[in-house]
Parts: sequence; structure tokens; C-alpha cells
Amino acid sequence: MNIILLGPPGAGKGTQASRLMADRGMVQLSTGDMLRAAVKSGSPVGLKAKSVMEAGELVSDEIVSGIIGERLDMSDTANGVIFDGYPRTAAQAEQLDELLEARGRMLDHVIELSVDEDALVDRIVGRYTCAKCGEGYHDHYKQPKVAGVCDVCGSTEFKRRPDDNAETVRTRMVEYRAKTAPILPIYEARGLVARVDGMADIDQVTQAIEAILDGK
Ligand code: ADP
Ligand code: ADP
Ligand code: ZN
Repeated sequence: MNIILLGPPGAGKGTQASRLMADRGMVQLSTGDMLRAAVKSGSPVGLKAKSVMEAGELVSDEIVSGIIGERLDMSDTANGVIFDGYPRTAAQAEQLDELLEARGRMLDHVIELSVDEDALVDRIVGRYTCAKCGEGYHDHYKQPKVAGVCDVCGSTEFKRRPDDNAETVRTRMVEYRAKTAPILPIYEARGLVARVDGMADIDQVTQAIEAILDGK
């Protein structure tokens, strides 16, 4: 099964994708994570992407579809993937169709996480992750069980993204509205879209997504 999680920055895509990975053995393909790894490694893609990401603008379609294509050629993706943060433009949606078709795969669901825009700044500004295993947390909504210690791996080091500030979030939301939201009708016309209330508790959102994947 191949699914897309679609929603604005802070909607909960990464949080839900990592739960689906743990529960169902699906593989999460986050272009944001891949780009951040490229920036960290100083690769040519990373050098191009760094300033664009820091500004909250979109990296070029060629770059992101290129890295998705490479990733889809790895065998761990054969049983199903969760696209998290991709596609983000109509051109990327077309490129994804081509990438899947060339590999004899198809899309099963596009899950739209619908959220209240006012909540997004708060979610993003409070977001942080474990520096060691990447588990996601939030200052108010998802604190570690023991303060300062990662639930998953026990690390005491955490990090915040440079683009997770109130100012950049505004640009990212404008980008979402202008370039990403318009791809929903493309998938709606194909009968692929299911909408989930992204304002519900994290567990409830997971349950709603699982019900869609189970065809309930
Ligand atoms: P995205 O990948 O869509 O940008 P994340 O999954 O990183 O979003 O979530 C953004 C922040 O909001 C994280 O700190 C996360 O812990 C928190 N969060 C995610 N889902 C919810 C939810 N349903 N309710 C409250 N906070 C949430
Ligand atoms: P969020 O879900 O919080 O918006 P991501 O981690 O998905 O954040 O993306 C962070 C940044 O990486 C984006 O603001 C953008 O600059 C870049 N990026 C990630 N995915 C894409 C994509 N599919 N197309 C273009 N740029 C992307
Ligand atoms: Zn950890």
C-alpha cells in the first residue's frame, strides 16, 4: 500500500507517519528529512537546498522528485510507503505518478490532515526532536514521560529545526496554500482523498488513519 499524508506544516504528518511505520512496517519517505540529511552532509543537493529551506520556500521539483525516485529504487520500499511532505506541487504530483508507474506501483490513499491554521504556529514553534533517534516531541502536546529523557532511546539531547520559528512558518503556510493545497482536487477527481480531523488527539488521528487503511 502506498499513501500520501497531505497537510500544512505542523499538521502532524511526521508524527503519524512514524506511528504507521511502527504499527504496520510501512516505510516513511519524508522529503524534509532527506533534505535535512543532505544539508548536514554538505552534498550538492544540500548546498542548493539550505538557504531555500531556511527561508521557508520550496526546493525545486527536480531535486525532490530526484531524491524520491532514488529512494523508491531501494528494496525496503517495495511493500509500501508513506509519502510525508511530498508531493507539494502539481508538477511533483505528476512526477510521482510517473515514478510509481515506471515501477509498477500505484497510490492507494491520499490522507488529508485538516487543521486549524491558528494552531499551526503553536505546534511548530513548540516542536523538537530527539537528537539521537529522531522521535518527535512538543513543549505542550507531547512531552517525554521523564522530563529531558527520550521515551524511545533514553537520550538526553534534543534539537529544534532552524526553520521552526514564527516568521518562517508564515512563509511556509503561504507556500502550502498557493502550491500544495491545489493538488488536492487532482487526487479528489481520482477518488483517492480521505479527510481526517488533524485537530484531534494524536492517538485519535492515528485511529482514524488506520480505519481508512483497513477500509473501515
Ligand atoms: P508535520 O510533519 O505535519 O510538519 P509534526 O508531526 O512534526 O507535523 O507535528 C508538529 C508538532 O505538533 C510536533 O511537535 C508534534 O508533537 C505536535 N503534534 C502532532 N500531532 C498533534 C496533535 N494531533 N495534537 C497536538 N500536537 C500534535
Ligand atoms: P513541514 O512538514 O514542517 O512543513 P518538512 O520537513 O516537510 O516541513 O519540510 C521542510 C522544508 O523542506 C520545506 O519548508 C521546504 O523548504 C523543503 N521541502 C520538503 N519537502 C519538499 C518538497 N516536496 N518540495 C519542495 N520543498 C520541500
Ligand atoms: Zn530518542
